[in-house]
Amino acid sequence: MYVHAILAAKASNRRGASVVTISPDSTVSDAAATLARHNIGAVVVTTPENRVAGIFSERDFVRLLAKAGAAALTAPVAGAMTRVVVTCTADDSIDAVMAKMTRGRFRHVPVIGADGRLAGLVSIGDVVKFHVEEIEHEASALRDYISH
Ligand code: AMP
Repeated sequence: MYVHAILAAKASNRRGASVVTISPDSTVSDAAATLARHNIGAVVVTTPENRVAGIFSERDFVRLLAKAGAAALTAPVAGAMTRVVVTCTADDSIDAVMAKMTRGRFRHVPVIGADGRLAGLVSIGDVVKFHVEEIEHEASALRDYISH
């Protein structure tokens, strides 16, 4: 199964497939407020052309506060985000994305379109949900097969 299946499923749910983003010159405080407001674990930092400049997750926020204290809240998020972002495309397999998450020890992978711009985001929650649904589907098909 492929990433485009996850994006299609997200597009049809309440939150939709749109990605929450902020600009690199937003403050760390803005970034934290964005995470809280949207109830998400990471926000993609994008250029005005909607290209990925970095990613800022709740883990970055905790590390920064522990290191620099409350003074860091007014600094630009550009200084606190992860700049080298591992991405995927909609044509990548979900297993390949899971392998990236496991190898890199992160829970979010932005999806890049053919035009090089941000096209979606896959979180560990999306991957787990997808796998659970797949297993339930298989179990139900097997039950039908046995009972007919
Ligand atoms: P997360 O598990 O997504 O909360 O992120 C844990 C750490 O990995 C944080 O420092 C993030 O900035 C970083 N991170 C999250 N997603 C990615 C990604 N796709 N590529 C590179 N680093 C990431």
